[in-house]
Amino acid sequence: MEEIFGREGLIARAHPEYEYRPGQIQMAEAVMHAFEDRHHLIVEAGTGTGKTLAYLVPAVAAALGRGARVVISTGTKNLQEQLMEKDIPFLQRVLPKKFTAAYMKGRGNYACLQRIKRAENAPVLEGLDDVDYFDEVRQWARESQTGDRAELTELPEKLSFWRHIDARTETCLGQKCPDFDPCFITRMRQRAQDADIIIVNHHLFFADLALRGGEYGQVIPDYGAVIFDEAHQIEDVAAEYFGFQVSNYQIDDLLRDLQLLPINDSSVNKELTRAAGRVSRFADNFWLGFKEGRGEDGRAPILPGTFARRKQNDEIEATALGDAYLSLDGALERMETTLDALRDKPPEVDNLIRRVRELRFALEFIVAGDDKRYVYWLERRGRGLFLRASPIDVSALLQDKLFDRVETVVLTSATLASAGRFDFIRRRLGLADMDEQGEPNPLADKTNELVAPSSFDYQKQAVLYLPSKMPDPRSPQWTEAAADEVIRILNVTRGRAFVLSTSVSGMRALYERVAARVDYPCFVQGDASKSWLLDRFRATPNAVLFATASFWQGVDVRGAQLSCVIIDKLPFAVPTDPVVAARQRFIEDAGGSSFYEYSVPQAIITLKQGLGRLIRSTTDRGVLSVLDPRLRTQAYGRMFLNSLPPCRITNKLEDVAEMFADEFNVQSSKFKVKRARKDSALASPDFEL
Ligand code: SF4
Repeated sequence: MEEIFGREGLIARAHPEYEYRPGQIQMAEAVMHAFEDRHHLIVEAGTGTGKTLAYLVPAVAAALGRGARVVISTGTKNLQEQLMEKDIPFLQRVLPKKFTAAYMKGRGNYACLQRIKRAENAPVLEGLDDVDYFDEVRQWARESQTGDRAELTELPEKLSFWRHIDARTETCLGQKCPDFDPCFITRMRQRAQDADIIIVNHHLFFADLALRGGEYGQVIPDYGAVIFDEAHQIEDVAAEYFGFQVSNYQIDDLLRDLQLLPINDSSVNKELTRAAGRVSRFADNFWLGFKEGRGEDGRAPILPGTFARRKQNDEIEATALGDAYLSLDGALERMETTLDALRDKPPEVDNLIRRVRELRFALEFIVAGDDKRYVYWLERRGRGLFLRASPIDVSALLQDKLFDRVETVVLTSATLASAGRFDFIRRRLGLADMDEQGEPNPLADKTNELVAPSSFDYQKQAVLYLPSKMPDPRSPQWTEAAADEVIRILNVTRGRAFVLSTSVSGMRALYERVAARVDYPCFVQGDASKSWLLDRFRATPNAVLFATASFWQGVDVRGAQLSCVIIDKLPFAVPTDPVVAARQRFIEDAGGSSFYEYSVPQAIITLKQGLGRLIRSTTDRGVLSVLDPRLRTQAYGRMFLNSLPPCRITNKLEDVAEMFADEFNVQSSKFKVKRARKDSALASPDFEL
């Protein structure tokens, strides 16, 4: 690894800006040993470690040496693109041995040749613009080598008809499809088959893992090893794909695809139209019965007694929603029977029968709600209503489907440890010393770990400001006090800040109280798309951005434009969230402490993600601030502080101002740091020009 990453190594010779980083070499060696010893590995590698090359180089060596493909799964599209467009081409130039890499996205990104043909005669277009756009897409699909919608740069990002022509699993005819050979998914799979390294994202990886061994949907070719970057996200993604889901969109799509069946017999068509009408009516009635999930995040539990309840005489009685379900299921069954009775069925009919059966099975599972290993919940998103059953604990599933089957799995992220330990991530993913039944877990010994040191000098580059007089975040005075403190900090850093909140209502409350009282341009999440807001933030001097969860990770703003990250409260997962509540209950029922075993370590990882937005290079510097006094006043606060980058901690605003004194002196020799005056601290900034 020294020959590659050392001061005179291959990479240093090829890249003039390359920095020697001991943490990078340590990580690369650990990954290499994991491949050699056929072990698993957990590595926390903070920003500035150079972790991408540290796992890519050993991955290439292992793929070429062992002849087994290595899959790299990322949490964000940005990282996938960075790997494919920068890191891999760079290594293909620099490394002495040649290797190939393929990029696989989720099936929804690709056009389906069959569905495009069917859409030509179907009512999927909503306006005149759509007609033009559809013509362009049809033309493009004839010429494209990949069918990836990212190539359609001239068309709007959101095409209303795309969901009717994409290559999603549910509608795919598989090998029975007349377009199977030229199909973009088949071609993508072939490219991946020929590659040494395959780049995917977590959603595709777990969708594929859940379907492995089945007839439909599996797209990733067999692999010998997997590297998960941004591995702190995989528990949630795995839970999504190992569970069951039914949505109103699924039924709408089913009914529309029924209309498009290539059947010329008018009496059969009449019968199918009647069946579709019944399903549509009963489905509307069913969805209208749900009142929950209209809150801030649209998630609510499906409580026992929703579909049936026990009467006093112990008999079970269906509720109104239960009756609606029975009617819907009856209509779906009738549709299934009608389709099944057709003679000389085209493959589209078999596909529809399969979808109806899967839908009925999932719906029955959710309505029964009696498998204690699952949490039953619903989510509203826009016009969509999703009913879900998610496994509460994915550790056994991951052991069985992933860690026992794949020889080497590397889990890496900038944030995996709390207070330097990996107990949390090990427990959540099935790599802890003891398994679910309290038996020794052989996977624990098969999994090494490393915290790779960062190359940043946090003592010099960052200061952690913890204001001393904040009230309890649950008190009514908190929001005003937090807004005042944000204003004080912004006046010292001259804007150039992210103000990150743990809830949308908290974000709006701070934005409304702060924006009108500072002279800096303020942006707030929700007013425009995330990418637009980030572009504006980067381009606007002294800007301030108020945001929530989606800006806590995967956002990269380098340089002085982002000199301050303020976090309002410790980011404990919302206890009313049905999945979080179920996980906490599960730990308590097993005799553990859900607060110390789940809430605290999970919040530490989220806080580290948020604060990680600040220092992105060796020349960045700035202030981190957490307004939540529990960091200082509660015993568990020490666990948070021990997990943060080793920077100076202060409760004095003058120390923060000092951090920027040089910078502002360069701009104006008259700049002078003033001590905050008690009475006028809010009216005037803490410095003068
Ligand atoms: S194989 Fe599936 S995805 Fe490909 S063209 Fe046919 S139906 Fe569409």
